[in-house]
Amino acid sequence: MLDESRLAIHQVTLRDQWSFRESIEGFARHGVHTTAVWREKLHEIGAHEAAQILRDHNMTVAGLCPGGLVTSSSGFTAALDDNRRMIEEAATIGAKCVVFISGGLGDGSKDLTAARARTLEAVAALIPEARSVGVMLGIEPLHPMMCANRAVFCTLKQANDWCDELDADDAVGIVLDTYSVWWDPTVAEEIARAGKRICSFHVNDWLEETKDLRLDRGMPGDGVIDIPSIRAMVENAGYSGPCEVEIFSAGNWWRRDPDEVIEIIKERFQTFV
Ligand code: ZN
Repeated sequence: MLDESRLAIHQVTLRDQWSFRESIEGFARHGVHTTAVWREKLHEIGAHEAAQILRDHNMTVAGLCPGGLVTSSSGFTAALDDNRRMIEEAATIGAKCVVFISGGLGDGSKDLTAARARTLEAVAALIPEARSVGVMLGIEPLHPMMCANRAVFCTLKQANDWCDELDADDAVGIVLDTYSVWWDPTVAEEIARAGKRICSFHVNDWLEETKDLRLDRGMPGDGVIDIPSIRAMVENAGYSGPCEVEIFSAGNWWRRDPDEVIEIIKERFQTFV
């Protein structure tokens, strides 16, 4: 059975119910002491106050997200600067990594190759900043259904290829999310290939009749993903860190009583993660 101390809950899972402070207090009240920080919530109060709240509740921060979003050709420099600020914020709140997603095609462009090249260029450009403050850049491929509007970076193989190319395993890791990789026929071999590069593990389920490309993720157990088998692959690859429940769910989980959501997560974590 999965040790409950490995449970992490991402703030975004209660996005519409709780403020930054309420979510940290809520997790602590339920005995959950690892979270991931949603940057919009961080900006409600600023990194210094957030850091104090996290310390007061003995909360470990697995990641700060979402970073990246660097594919716009016209906004590339501004996006890099924003990511530099984000790396500073991550260091201030003690986050282990900045979760880096690429961004979609943008600008009315059809040039997927160029958008991917800009993403890799951005990761490379941010390595010195990340290294200087000891925050990992956790590159997260998203499900390819979001290629147009959210992430041209969408497979684990691409993540591994980029890590090979960057040759900076001390500063660049891979964030693996069950929602994004479960369908991939190469998932087992690419997780094994990623090995110690895996710096964060996100869990949630794919609803068979999903209603939204981005905001209809399922609670573990409600969908079709064999989460325990993916977790076993990740652990065999050398990962032993938190399993972070990250659920974007505008129509369901964001509308429920937040304490009830956490109780359900804790139950499901034992059986379906
Ligand atoms: Zn994720």
